[in-house]
Amino acid sequence: MNTIAALLREKGLKVTPQRIAIYQMLKNTKCHPTADTIYQALSPANPAMSLATVYKTLDSFQSVDLVQQLNVGNNCSRYDAEIKSHPHFICTQCNQVIDFQASGLANIKEKIENETDCIIEREQLFFYGICPECQKKEHSSQS
Ligand code: ZN
Ligand code: MN
Repeated sequence: MNTIAALLREKGLKVTPQRIAIYQMLKNTKCHPTADTIYQALSPANPAMSLATVYKTLDSFQSVDLVQQLNVGNNCSRYDAEIKSHPHFICTQCNQVIDFQASGLANIKEKIENETDCIIEREQLFFYGICPECQKKEHSSQS
């Protein structure tokens, strides 16, 4: 029994091998791929898949809350199968997008709602900087 197929059906989506492959890839990665990265990774095993199919599939996943789209600028979107809102860190050198946990960020929505009169419906929180690996590379190239 394919649980992804069941999930797609439950969300009212037609089950296709391509949709299963795309969702499976997103579920199994922490690297927040772009549509193009997904296409590059899956097209060898799915020769009938086009980049347009990947985009259409991601749109339909998003419309039924199976994935979230991260707008990381430069007309570029990353996709995340973790749909619960969570902060991300973007490395300005290697462009990797990583899940970002820090104690001060826990329950940030509730904290802000308590301090302001606003009701927050959704948020996307990004921090930009240099990731640990790129810091190491910088140090080793300087020495
Ligand atoms: Zn980096
Ligand atoms: Mn994430």
